[in-house]
Parts: sequence; C-alpha cells; structure tokens
Amino acid sequence: MKQIALYGKGGIGKSTTSANLSAALSLSGYNVLQIGCDPKRDSTRMLMQGRLIPTVMDLVRERGAASVTPADVVYTGFNGIRCVEAGGPEPGVGCAGRGIIATFQLLEKFGTLTGDVIVYDVLGDVVCGGFAMPMREGYAQEVYLVTSGELMSLYAANNICKAVQRLSARPRSMCRLAGVICNAKNLPREEELVAEFARRVNSHLLQYIPRDRTVQLAELDRKTVLEYEPSSEQAQRYRDLAARVMENTRFTIPTPLEIDELESLARQFV
Ligand code: ATP
Ligand code: MG
Repeated sequence: MKQIALYGKGGIGKSTTSANLSAALSLSGYNVLQIGCDPKRDSTRMLMQGRLIPTVMDLVRERGAASVTPADVVYTGFNGIRCVEAGGPEPGVGCAGRGIIATFQLLEKFGTLTGDVIVYDVLGDVVCGGFAMPMREGYAQEVYLVTSGELMSLYAANNICKAVQRLSARPRSMCRLAGVICNAKNLPREEELVAEFARRVNSHLLQYIPRDRTVQLAELDRKTVLEYEPSSEQAQRYRDLAARVMENTRFTIPTPLEIDELESLARQFV
C-alpha cells in the first residue's frame, strides 16, 4: 500500500490536486482512500458532490471515541473512493498533532487504513509540528510538495523540506521526499524554476499542472476535473500525475536551501 501526502503553502491547491489525483488513481482501477487533515473539511468535497462530511475529531469531541463507528466517518465518494475528514483543533484552541494521531489510531482500529493508495491532504506548511505528525508517525511515507513558482510558495516548500530532512534522519523513519508538483500560476519560466528548485533540494519535478479555468468550473459544479470534463487537457495532466506517482521510485532525503539561495534562484527565472 502506498501512503502519500501532499504538503504546501496555504491555498496553493493541495486539496484540488489531491481530489483530482485520487479521482485519476481510482479511474485507473486503484482502491483509494483520501484523508483530509484540515478542520475546514473541504478536502473531499469534490469527491462527495459538494457534501462536507463530518470530521473524525469533531465526532470524537462530541460523543467520545467509543461511540464513533466507521460508518460515521468513512464515506464513499466518486467512483468508490473512500473519503475521510480527520479534522483539526477548533481555531485558536489546542494542538493539532495530538488529535491527528488519535484519529489515525482510531482509523487503524476500524481497519480503514487499507487499499492500494492512501492520499493524505495536509493543511498548511508545517509550522506547528502538529501537521508534521502524519510524516512523523509513519503514516505519510511519500511526501509530495505542491508549489507554484511564487517565492512564498517555494519558501513554504523549502520549509517542508527542512521538516522531511529532520524526520527522515530518525531511526526507522519511512518518511521521504517523493517529488515536487508544480501547481502553476502560469508565470513566465515557472516550470523551469520549479524544476530547478526540485533539483536543488535533491528531488525532481514530478508533474507540471497549469492554472486552468476548468478547475474552477468543475469546482462550481462540485466535481473534480476528472468527473466534470474527462476529455480536457487538464484531466490528462491529473492522469499523468497519477501514473507518475504510481511509477515513482525516486524517494530522497531533501537538501533544503538557505533563504538567500532560494531568493537568488527565483531571481534567475524572472
Ligand atoms: P488550504 O491550504 O486552505 O487547504 P489548498 O492548498 O488545499 O488550500 P485549494 O483549496 O485546493 O488549496 O485551492 C485553492 C483554490 O485554487 C481553489 O479555489 C481552486 O479552485 C484553485 N486552484 C487550485 N489549483 C488550480 C489550478 N490548477 N487551476 C486553477 N485553479 C486552481
Ligand atoms: Mg486544502
């Protein structure tokens, strides 16, 4: 079983990419589980026809773990994809990490963490160690960075590299950087820049995904692009991503950049 996690700057397109990737994987015949790790619980929305499913953490808080059943938290979405929203702390209260691990342990007890691929869609850029938990505890073994060519997005990706580097040094750690996904803002020379960034951090650009209106149109129709317009070029990009994820064997310990290196790299590609 492959366990992959998408990390990246807030708003960069992790949930959109995760949902489309899951849809493409599932349409290729894989048994897929997508787990959103975000109190916004919008990770699986496009797979659930716009429905926001309850989060495991909210249910556990309301009822206690003993009264929560698999049927309360695992929902079947597009093409049979199993969808879970792990949730997170109430804004401004508590630590995300503790809840996330308890949630994964509960899912493990339910026998939910099975299938060919688990896609973890993880909130934020690992500033609070809490959201590094899926990596730290061996759930998310292949970390994919989602970034555009914008400096702040690369900056967040570079910080995630620091977390992966630190975690991969731990004994028996399974956590590795698996690649970079460029979710573009359609900037000039963006693909070249992100490819070079990936190379410098000892990884590779796995897939370039252009910014495309079809994504928003699909979103308005509460669907992934794969469901909304399967014949579009954008859908093909997500199918290519899915194929590359499944074929990928290049898992590395990243070499994060110093901030001035990152800035001068970005300046080279303006
Ligand atoms: P958060 O950090 O808040 O969880 P996120 O990284 O999951 O955010 P998304 O919610 O997936 O980001 O995407 C933010 C917005 O960007 C969405 O409205 C989505 O439609 C849009 N978007 C993402 N990728 C693309 C793309 N390739 N083309 C066009 N729009 C996109
Ligand atoms: Mg998201």
